[in-house]
Amino acid sequence: RVRVFSGVQPTGHLTLGNYLGAVRRWAAEDQHRADALFCVVDLHALTVEHDPARVRRLSRQAASLLLAAGLDPERCTVFVQSQVDEHLRLAYLMECTATDGEMRRMIQYKEKAAREQARGGSVRLSLLTYPTLMAADILAYGTDEVPVGDDQTQHVQLTRDLAVRFNQRYGATFVVPKAMPPRVAARVMDLQEPTSKMGKSHARTAGTVFLLDEPEVVRKKVMRAVTDGGDDVVYEREARPGIANLLDVLAACTDGDPERLAEGYASYGALKKDVADAVVETLRPLRERHAELAADPAYVDEVLRAGADRARGLAKPRVDAAYRAMGVGV
Ligand code: ATP
Ligand code: MG
Repeated sequence: RVRVFSGVQPTGHLTLGNYLGAVRRWAAEDQHRADALFCVVDLHALTVEHDPARVRRLSRQAASLLLAAGLDPERCTVFVQSQVDEHLRLAYLMECTATDGEMRRMIQYKEKAAREQARGGSVRLSLLTYPTLMAADILAYGTDEVPVGDDQTQHVQLTRDLAVRFNQRYGATFVVPKAMPPRVAARVMDLQEPTSKMGKSHARTAGTVFLLDEPEVVRKKVMRAVTDGGDDVVYEREARPGIANLLDVLAACTDGDPERLAEGYASYGALKKDVADAVVETLRPLRERHAELAADPAYVDEVLRAGADRARGLAKPRVDAAYRAMGVGV
């Protein structure tokens, strides 16, 4: 069976971008067609300025949102990264495989380092080495496919490079994985700044739809989305990023095609109203299920405990083999 691995960081509340770009497919497709593992990658959340109590709370919330989104613990493995030590054991070996230059070329590093500095903070070393931990997350499980948004394809490409390099130098140990971005909404843009990716850790809340936003808040954010010059609805990602983004979101929520959808609208107003309705309807079942799960914390705990047990069992033999291949361990 195909092995799938993917994750989400508890750096903030999950967004519509996380859902349309990643989580929705994990639930609708991946868990049914593959042996899939989905991870709340909490150690990655420590790479930027963080509040310990908040990270713990958000990890928990992310896990219940994944279950609310339809991940079924009978079909897939849901767990928290820090509960499985194998990730960190392998991350060190990845640091010994990757180069300093490779890390510094990563777009996410450049963007997030600039953001930390702009906030007057310092850049943590772990922000630079982030991709080696992410490579470990993926490679520990013999992952074939990594369903992620567009922004993570560079990190998955690096993971491939590290797997190939390790296998060549130390013997065949890792499966070389590939990134699987979605057909539409691979990069949902900020509603207020449609040339920037919607992200959960930005301070730009007006342009970010959070999965747990009240329906009225979602509507307001969509209706106030920044649009482009003109008032005709055409799908042009470069020239009309605001409208293209709304069409992408609508296409993703209604299983349509953005260019074809554009033909049905004469003005921005009508489009926005349909996008608002579609997003609210898409998120409704998720919000309802999340409210139910919030009332049953013991269930979520048990799912995560069982998930970590299974993940540990899968990862350990391969990570042990990687240690031996590199000349350490027993
Ligand atoms: P952060 O700002 O902390 O990096 P994030 O919103 O980018 O948060 P991640 O936890 O880094 O979320 O990513 C989780 C998954 O969601 C990844 O597969 C990522 O590619 C995807 N994703 C994140 N933002 C978007 C987006 N705007 N559009 C589509 N997919 C996205
Ligand atoms: Mg991100």
